[in-house]
Amino acid sequence: MSAALEGVQIDSGHLHPLPSTMKDGTSRSTTLTVLTGLPGTGKTSTLIRLLQEHQAAGQDVKLYLSGENSLLTQRPNVVAGGRMGCRNPKFSFTISEVLKTDQAIERLVSAAPGSVAAFDEAQYFQPHIVAAWVAAAQRGVHVIISTPSASQQAALSAKAIQLTDLNVPCVTCGKRKSTVVIYKENLAQPTQVCGSCESDHYETTVAQLLNDVRESEPFKGESKTYQPFYDLPMKGWTFVRGDSPARFEIIRRALSKYPYIKVDPTNPGREFTYVDVGCCSGFFCDAFTTHGFSSTGVDVTKHFIDWAKRVALLKRQSIRYLQEDAEKFLTSSDSQFDVTSSFATIQWVMAQRNYNAGVNCFKVLFNRTRHVCVVEMGYSTEDIYKTKILDRPTEIDKDWVLRIMNEHGNFAHIDFYPAGHLGIWRDIFIGYKNMPADKSVSQITDWGSGLRSRARRAVHRFMEKTRRRTGHGS
Ligand SMILES: [Zn+2]
Repeated sequence: MSAALEGVQIDSGHLHPLPSTMKDGTSRSTTLTVLTGLPGTGKTSTLIRLLQEHQAAGQDVKLYLSGENSLLTQRPNVVAGGRMGCRNPKFSFTISEVLKTDQAIERLVSAAPGSVAAFDEAQYFQPHIVAAWVAAAQRGVHVIISTPSASQQAALSAKAIQLTDLNVPCVTCGKRKSTVVIYKENLAQPTQVCGSCESDHYETTVAQLLNDVRESEPFKGESKTYQPFYDLPMKGWTFVRGDSPARFEIIRRALSKYPYIKVDPTNPGREFTYVDVGCCSGFFCDAFTTHGFSSTGVDVTKHFIDWAKRVALLKRQSIRYLQEDAEKFLTSSDSQFDVTSSFATIQWVMAQRNYNAGVNCFKVLFNRTRHVCVVEMGYSTEDIYKTKILDRPTEIDKDWVLRIMNEHGNFAHIDFYPAGHLGIWRDIFIGYKNMPADKSVSQITDWGSGLRSRARRAVHRFMEKTRRRTGHGS
């Protein structure tokens, strides 16, 4: 039922350590148990049952969790002395410590032979912990690992350690083996399905979502919306911001030349965070999450946030989406994100509150940026904003944005990408807190001017429609 290795057999969760023969011919009991499998197949309950058995047998049992990823540490029970539970309310076990990888390695080095060291949600430890797991097991420590990351699994496999999946049949058809989980309500309730039933679920969910978008304002009855959904089939649809993929491509290139951010999606133990202030229906949060970031999206428009949440659930993504006003979100905390972005949002704070409130939003956004800040700003020279932000002391344009980033951003370097570059519709500014490896921006193409004015008109029409109906834009 579970993984068993190097001299362990598990039979309904009961451990039977077997002697293994060492190179020098001596015999020693070594145990390294790796529990893998889809969410909801009982890895944690199996782990807890094993730990309870060891404890009942009088062994010293320690349960360790990683303190290196907020997806784990934001859970209130994930503290030393907290209870690790599972779907079966009868089973829980006390967490010994929440620690970083190097501290966990120290515990493994000093663990006594015959004691038990268990790691739940092991994927949040750095991959170099694998060597310490194996070394401890070879000294006779019972090491139990649940849910290793892809890179940890690769390292375990490289040491010829076998992993056996806990598995269940497809919940939907009951015929085939389950290979994936789907989520219908929330990420806490996985349903194990086969590939074929997953495709059916995907198609039905996308069709329902797009139908709801089609029935929503401000483009009711049209296959048209503000942003596309990232990497979702939307043939025949048109978008106000059809340049969303181009904007993401610019950010992707910018990050690739910045050595302080190196995301490895196979190693969630090293977390990089992203926030999009004015996230619309989540294109950029989805794109960043797909590329390995932990993302937060903030937008004041309820149906944008609802759609974004539905896409995240469909894609099994843990994205924090908040329906909140940009200024309120920014000024409510000083916690930092590695990458921040705000696309054409702050000018609405200025239009609806006042000029200074918008300037303050930029200051806070820059302070809350640990590494890279992406700015797109609606200019007061655009038709839609000409008659708004009436208390502005000066025109808000390219020079204004550069000045405010230079004065308040504490950036080591700022890249400027003009409208038209790669097809983007407005200027984009990227501020780096440390110097990027390459200061040049990629080749500028000049097919933008016609596109630019067409795009501006489209944005204008959308904003006017949205404003008439809801009293704000985004
Ligand atoms: Zn099925």
